[in-house]
Amino acid sequence: MDYYESVVDLIGGTPLVRLNKVTEGIEALVLAKVEYVNPGGSVKDRIAVRMIEDAEKAGLLQPGGTIVEPTSGNTGVGLAIVAQQRGYKCVFVCPDKVSEDKQNVLRAYGAEVVVCPTAVDPADPRSYYQVSDRLVREIPGAWKPDQYSNPANPRSHYETTGPELWEQTDGKITHFVAGVGTGGTISGIGKYLKEVSGGKVKIIGADPEGSVYSGGTGRPYLVEGVGEDFWPTTYDTGICDEIVAVSDKDSFDLTRRLAREEGLLVGGSCGMAAEAALRVAREAGPDAVVVVLLPDGGRGYLSKIFNDEWLARYGFLTTAGEGTTIADVL
Ligand code: PMP
Repeated sequence: MDYYESVVDLIGGTPLVRLNKVTEGIEALVLAKVEYVNPGGSVKDRIAVRMIEDAEKAGLLQPGGTIVEPTSGNTGVGLAIVAQQRGYKCVFVCPDKVSEDKQNVLRAYGAEVVVCPTAVDPADPRSYYQVSDRLVREIPGAWKPDQYSNPANPRSHYETTGPELWEQTDGKITHFVAGVGTGGTISGIGKYLKEVSGGKVKIIGADPEGSVYSGGTGRPYLVEGVGEDFWPTTYDTGICDEIVAVSDKDSFDLTRRLAREEGLLVGGSCGMAAEAALRVAREAGPDAVVVVLLPDGGRGYLSKIFNDEWLARYGFLTTAGEGTTIADVL
């Protein structure tokens, strides 16, 4: 018989797939690390396991304990799955701008979701920062993973994703590209690849235009899960050889092309990272092996990036041939 002991054992070991169409005119080999095949649907399952295991070892999380984290997205799903399997409760605190669908995904896994008003000052007792801090203080046995400062976040990538990439490419990887949010992915993988290759692999961070990593002030952008308006400690500021800033429009254009041309239905931060990877690959020679990490799937973005009206509202729907209906052709 061939089976896994639990869903948690399905985390990691994700495949690499070649990008064939969007790479037209590019000589380098461009490979995508497809993280949406993790059981929770994103790369964040990896950090959830390691953060929980570390907390158990340190005695911060005891049987029957409660995980409290201000998150609405992928990290919450990863934590919810691992917590459920290990017998912990989960309380996620999120601002009310987060869609019902996202809240319901977390509830579906058995987590409790506390919704806070977006339009209040971070210092206001009703803000989601204040509420999550209060819940940690008040719930007995509560523990807050804090993915923005938890060293298990980058370490999970140093120990799993980095070695996977090196093995899968047989040590031939020359460039690694990933979006930067907490910075855990790029810092952990970057450290491993630099060490194992003797500094040869180039590490390229992709960042939404306006975010601090590419010199911005944190000005709003629409791509989700990447870019920041502060510098988290999980980001190693010395790790990137280059940071590529990508606009929302370029990110969403390529996100849609990845679905239509490569059969990869992925999120907006994937389009952003892939756009940066294509720019790098265009400059690289035929022997280059450029790997881009695609953090999550596209189903959570159907009413946004894959919705023509939503795109048109922001003036982004300009890609020729897209949005054509049968009526236009007849
Ligand atoms: N893309 C998505 C969709 C994410 O949720 C995240 C995590 N915030 C990232 C990219 C960036 O990963 P990291 O936090 O490891 O920098």
